[in-house]
Amino acid sequence: MQPITRLEPQSGSQQIDKASHVNERLVEHHFDDIRIIGYSVAGEETVIAAPELNVCFDIGKAPAEVLPVDHVLLSHGHMDHSAGIAYYLSQRNFIGNSPGTVLTPTRLVDPLKSLLHVWGQIEGHVTPAKIVGMLPGDEYQIRRGLVARAFRNNHGVPSLGFVIVDVRRKLKPEFIDKSGPELVALKKQGIEIEYTLEVPLIAYCGDTADGDWVQYDMVRQAKLLILECTFFEADHVKRARAGYHMHVKDVAKIIERLDNPHFLLSHVTRRTAMRHAKRALAKLVTAETYDRVTFLMDRRKARRVEANVDAPVQD
Ligand SMILES: [Zn+2]
Repeated sequence: MQPITRLEPQSGSQQIDKASHVNERLVEHHFDDIRIIGYSVAGEETVIAAPELNVCFDIGKAPAEVLPVDHVLLSHGHMDHSAGIAYYLSQRNFIGNSPGTVLTPTRLVDPLKSLLHVWGQIEGHVTPAKIVGMLPGDEYQIRRGLVARAFRNNHGVPSLGFVIVDVRRKLKPEFIDKSGPELVALKKQGIEIEYTLEVPLIAYCGDTADGDWVQYDMVRQAKLLILECTFFEADHVKRARAGYHMHVKDVAKIIERLDNPHFLLSHVTRRTAMRHAKRALAKLVTAETYDRVTFLMDRRKARRVEANVDAPVQD
C-alpha cells in the first residue's frame, strides 16, 4: 500500500493571485458582431454562451462566466450538458440576479423541477427558477426583437436544437418615399405599411446525428451554425452512429452543402488532438469551406476569458 502523503497548507496560500483567476478553460471567439464564450469536450462538459444575446446553450458545470446570462437553452439531459443546472440557478439567486430561465424539451420539465425540489430538501430552501418546456417549432421571446426557436434534432433522447432569431419590423419598400404624416394616414386607413424581417443569428444543433434538421431554413440561414463534431478516427463511424453523434465525415458532407458564413464545431472527443481534428476536416472539404470553420476548443484561434475576480464569496 502507498503511504498517505499529507499536504500541509503553504504560507501565503490564502493570498489571491489575480493571474490565477484568468480562466484557462473557457475560450472566446468573435464571429462578426457575435461573441461566443464556452467550453466543450465530448462526454466531459459542454457550455456555449452568447452573452450579448443573453443566451447560453447547455450549461455544462455552470462556470462563473455564464452566471449573468439569463437564459439557458438546455438541449438535452445528458450529464455533460446539464450537470450544472441547479448550481447555475442557485448561484444566480445568491448573487442577487433574477431567477434564471431554462428552455428545455417538455419531457425534461418535471424531472428538472424534481431535481430542484430535492436540492431544496438538501439545502433547506428551494431555488427560484423558470423552467419552460419547448416542443419543436415553439418560440420564446428573449427580449424585444429577439426570440429563441426550438427545432427537432436527432439524438435518440428528448432533445432539441435552438435558433436565435433577430426579428425586425421594416417599412415596405413601396412606402419608403412617404412622409411621416402620409404613413400615419396610410396606417389609419388600415393599410399594413410594415413587414417582418427575420434574421437567424445562431443555430445551435446540440448533440445530434445527421437528420432532417439540416434542411430547416432557419438552420441553413444562420450567420453562425454551431455543430457537434465528435469523432474523427476511421473506425469510429459505428461509435458515432450508436450514440447519435457526428463523425467528421458527416460534418464535412453537411457543411459542404451549406452557405452559412461561419461554422463553429464543438463536442470533439478528448481522444483526438486538435491539430489532428483540423487536419482530418481540412482533407474532406474545400479550402473555401474550411475557411468558414472554427473549432471551439482551438486555443490558437481563441482569446482567453477573464473571470470576474470581484465575484462575491459564499460562506
Ligand atoms: Zn448527448
